[in-house]
Amino acid sequence: MIKAVTGTKDILPADIPYWRHLENIVTATMTRFNYKEIRTPVFEDTSLFARGIGESTDIVSKEMYTFIDRGGASLTLKPEMTAGVVRAFVEHSLDKKQSLNKLFYISPMFRQERPQAGRFRQFHQFGAEALGSNDPLLDAEMIIIAYDIFVQLGLKNLSVKINSLGVPESREKYKKILREFLLPHFEQLTNESKKRFDTNILRIFDSKEGQDQKILVNAPLLIEHLDNESLEHFEKVKSALLSSNIPFEIDPKLVRGLDYYTHTTFEVVSGSVGSQSALCGGGRYNLLVKELGGPDIPGVGFASGIERVLLACENEKSLQTSADQIDIYLVTIEKNLSSFAYKTAVELRRKGSLVEMDYLSRSVKAQMREANKFNAKYVLMIGGDEFAKGVLLLKNMSSGEQMEIMKEDFDKILSTVKGK
Ligand code: AMP
Repeated sequence: MIKAVTGTKDILPADIPYWRHLENIVTATMTRFNYKEIRTPVFEDTSLFARGIGESTDIVSKEMYTFIDRGGASLTLKPEMTAGVVRAFVEHSLDKKQSLNKLFYISPMFRQERPQAGRFRQFHQFGAEALGSNDPLLDAEMIIIAYDIFVQLGLKNLSVKINSLGVPESREKYKKILREFLLPHFEQLTNESKKRFDTNILRIFDSKEGQDQKILVNAPLLIEHLDNESLEHFEKVKSALLSSNIPFEIDPKLVRGLDYYTHTTFEVVSGSVGSQSALCGGGRYNLLVKELGGPDIPGVGFASGIERVLLACENEKSLQTSADQIDIYLVTIEKNLSSFAYKTAVELRRKGSLVEMDYLSRSVKAQMREANKFNAKYVLMIGGDEFAKGVLLLKNMSSGEQMEIMKEDFDKILSTVKGK
């Protein structure tokens, strides 16, 4: 038997109500903050994600689904959304139409990671990008949107961690200081951190290994070496969060390795999902648009993993979906009336009711069982003496009440079912 590929997951009908609920909350919240939806292709030219050397992230170095198509082009399934959104923004000169573009998305992503709880190879993210302003209020807005979405999903066990990466100049100076601090301890670092020492020294802070952690305890922190402009930016973010009642903590070890990141970086973490605890990550990237060949335009954004958020909801039992119900189940008493039943079902559906009927030539008893299984509010009986008289019997399944309705009087059926 052919099975789903490792690290991918079917979203079965029983799970869909939770996904829809989340997607509705995301769309409604983004809309209230005036973000517009954008959809970009699932695959892009590989060079969009793998730009230049020295750009060492785990995603680019080992996790991308890259393939050569029949025309010889190197394509990559999108591992994240920001690059695609910025590409589209530049390609369509969106900055010419609007000075600040506030965009959001809900989309599948692809990374060849080691599958584990909360880590998949095809997963889904929702997120936002605001392109066109360096205002710290937008950094705070990203955190507020993400936090508000999680709160609306009923999540409680949340913490917001923020940090500032400053600007490249102060960061470069700090990297030298960090290098000098780590050099005497180099031999005690794990192999992964030794590699990062040369390729991406800030990311040594991402290490969860005790061996590295022991050394990092006393490491100098970037936040202590920020320039004044960056400190001021960070202060404004913090006061916007305070005035919006977002609880947060400063995590000076929250870093991002890439040069295009500037100023604010943040994560919202859940205590309810085990080791893969980040529900979302984001920050400001003032140098990315230019790096992707666009104008010198600042940006800020975040991305949140839907599977992980829903796992947190499941573990906190924060969501209740109402039991599925159908409006009307049509019970066909005589087989020769099935085409009349079919016509009636189609008509009632076209007029807005959720209707089901029998397609398996079942007995009346079996059809009634089916109506109960579907939790039908009403059963419409087609056949018997009533049909001979030109009427159908409509039965309210919770009160047991029955009424006769003229055969083709769809409006009467609908108004009864809708309680009007
Ligand atoms: P990133 O784009 O790596 O900053 O990730 C943003 C968010 O996406 C994370 O906080 C997770 O919630 C989610 N995420 C990242 N990678 C995966 C994955 N492989 N499977 C499921 N969720 C993921």
